[in-house]
Order: sequence, then structure tokens, then C-alpha cells
Amino acid sequence: MSDQKFWNPVLETLPLEKIRQLQLKKFQNIFRWTYEHSKFHRQLYDHAGVKPEDIKSFHDIQRVPTVEKSMMRDIQGKDPFPYGDALCVPLEDVTIFRQTSGTTGQPVYQPDTWQDWEWWTECWSYILWAQGYRPADRVFIPFGYNIFVAFWAGHYAAEKIGCEVIPGGVLDTKARILKIRELRATAMMGTPTYILGMAETARMKMDVDPSQLTIGKITCAGECGASVPSTKKRLQDAWGAKVYDHAGATEIGAWSFECEDQPGGMHVNEALFLVEIADMESGEIIEEPGRRGKMMITALDRQAQPCVRFDSKDVIEWAAEPCSCGRTSRLIKGGVVGRADDITKVKGVLLAPSAIEEVVRGVDGLGDEYEVVVDRVGDTDSIQLKVEVLPEAQDQCQLIESELADQLRLKTNLRYDIEICGCETLPRYEVKAKRFKDLRKEKSEE
Ligand SMILES: [Zn+2]
Repeated sequence: MSDQKFWNPVLETLPLEKIRQLQLKKFQNIFRWTYEHSKFHRQLYDHAGVKPEDIKSFHDIQRVPTVEKSMMRDIQGKDPFPYGDALCVPLEDVTIFRQTSGTTGQPVYQPDTWQDWEWWTECWSYILWAQGYRPADRVFIPFGYNIFVAFWAGHYAAEKIGCEVIPGGVLDTKARILKIRELRATAMMGTPTYILGMAETARMKMDVDPSQLTIGKITCAGECGASVPSTKKRLQDAWGAKVYDHAGATEIGAWSFECEDQPGGMHVNEALFLVEIADMESGEIIEEPGRRGKMMITALDRQAQPCVRFDSKDVIEWAAEPCSCGRTSRLIKGGVVGRADDITKVKGVLLAPSAIEEVVRGVDGLGDEYEVVVDRVGDTDSIQLKVEVLPEAQDQCQLIESELADQLRLKTNLRYDIEICGCETLPRYEVKAKRFKDLRKEKSEE
């Protein structure tokens, strides 16, 4: 099986019209399931006047109300405790608890049954297979196995494929690097922030060159970084490995992945998920490539706490061309380009934090970390950007600063107050980074 190109040769090469038929059929099923088993959803749907038998065509799906994270937050803590009445199975069928990381507010609980967990693992098997994981791989997983879903399903999927898995659990970063070297691990998974930080630790604190280790591929998730070209390049150069992006979420599932062809975007696993892109102002569904909107997503097979037309707030756009790898599922161009909550107007200009990341990581002589603070004094917005200069570039600060300012102006149309700091002075993050602060929002919330 190792020489097989696709994890599921049938579903991954289905003609588009067959994928649409399959999605409609599966949507009808999951919508009926949800309507019949979740009191929370049934009330929402009755209020909107939509019943399962009303969904006859693809277009009818747009009649189904969307669900936001805040709605899920509101029902939890109630009966059946602690999940609330969106739970579609008896409480005793729940086999695992997870919760969202809470980067955008109070965490949301996520119950899964054993069947849902097998589904999670299957979703990840598509991802890993597409990124070249095979039974001969020895996969090191450096994350703190805990209440967050993170790379749990990646671990199970690697086992399912037949790889050998090394759980890097509570080891610290140095011990993890030593273990990779000792066992000659060939692949690993982590957030772009953590994987970059690991490389820094290896170089600066252990005198180990990570590109000389045996890691040949890295699967990233949790942040947009692996789809930001300059960050991807830093990751790949640091480790001498191919770096792939993947996007997923606790309340959704593992819905997209970059394949070995690295086409500048990610496949949506369309046999298992229905992705719709909605215009951010009008809510109109965008079918054509090249227009950004926010994602609404349905996990077509998830049962315990369903994900039906979930408003994820991820900003994405369809790519114009199919992928060269032969998979027929559509690509989203440049991965997830940001979150609808994060894209903000500064001095009247729309700013996506990932655009700043792309510039900073593209300037030679700068470290990987940076920090952005947007503030307002009187009626004027200001953006402060702190970056770190590498020891070997210390005497070129002025040159670096002017290149940075030029590139930022070019890419984002804004002016920044740049502060160049010494190496390792900015905060380091273990899992997901918080590099962008908008003090205007915090002030308006007070
Ligand atoms: Zn592909």
C-alpha cells in the first residue's frame, strides 16, 4: 500500500459533480440527524422555518441558519451536564472530552463518541498520507497531550497509517531535540511558532543544527504560518525539511491540508466537509475564485455535537486552478489568510496580521519573533512594531529598519513605529502565539 498515491483513491479523485451529489446527500443526513437529536438546533431551525424535508437542492442549504461559537458557549454547563442540549447522543456514549483553546474568549467544550474519534483519525489519515507519511516513517510528536485536541488525532492517524509514533509529551524542548537525534525521527508535527522556537533552541542553546537532523517533513497546524511564504521558507530552511500546512478546529474537525505538491494552498477534504464562503458584508455565498469571505463549514459525518453551517470566521478564498496532484477537491488559495475578528481597519486601511508576518519573516537579519500593538491616541491610529535583530546583523540595524519600513508600506499601505530589539527579548510562546494586540478593541470593551 505504501506506493499508493491517495489515502482514499475513490473519494479523492471523484469528479466534482459527484462530490457535490455526495455532499448534498450527506448534508441531508446530518441535518436530519441534528434536527431530530439536538434540542438546541431544532429550536434554531424551527424558528427559521426549515425542516429536513426542505433540503432538496444545494441551494436549499443556504436556508439553514448558521451557528456561532458564542451560541455553543451559551448552552454549555446545562443538562446534560456539562455539554448542554446540542448533544445528540446519550451522555454515556461520550468517550472523550476536549475544549477549545479559548484564544477568542471562554473555551467551548467538545464531546466526542468513539465513532467520532475514529472519524477524526480518518480525517487526519488523509492529511498525513497526502504529505508523504508512510509506514516506514518514525514520527515525533512534541506537544503536551492534554485537554486540547491539537495533535491527538495526528498521533492516532500516524499509527493507523502504520508509522511508528514517538509521543514527545512532557519532555522539554531540549529533551525533545535530543530524542529526535537519538531515534532519528523522520517527521514531526507542531505549530509554526513552536517549530521555529525549537530550531532556535537547538542552534542557540545546544549548538545543534536542526537541518542536520533526520526530520524530512513537518506538519503544521494551529496558526496560519506554514501557508505564509516567508514563514514557510524559514521553517523549511531551519529544518532542511518540507513543511506542510493543515487547518482544523476542535468544534469542526481536520478539514483541510496541503499536499506534497505544495500548490500554494490547501485542499478542502470535500468528501467529509462542506465548505461555503460567505461575503463578509452581505453574507452572499461566493462561488467564484479570488474573492475572500468567511468560511461556513459543515462536518458531514460528526455526530455527538454536530457542526452544521458553523460560522468559523476563518477568512479564505477559492483558488482558480485544480491541484497538480490529481486530487479533485478544491484548493483554498494561500491557506487560511486570517480571522474575520483579526482583520481590522487602521487609519481607514484594512489590515490582516498575516501580511505583517509575511514581511517580517522575509527580511534577512531579523529573528522569528515580533510584536504588533495597534493603539489610538485622540483620533489617530498608530501601529507599533517590535522586531528582534539577529546577533550577526547587529551592525546593520539602520539598513534593516529602512528595508522593513519600505516593505511594510508596500504590502500593507501603512506606516509603523518600528523598534529593533535585541535577540530573545520578546516573549516566546509554547503553543499558539499572540503577537497582534489591538488596544483600541480592549479599550472599547472596557
Ligand atoms: Zn494537491
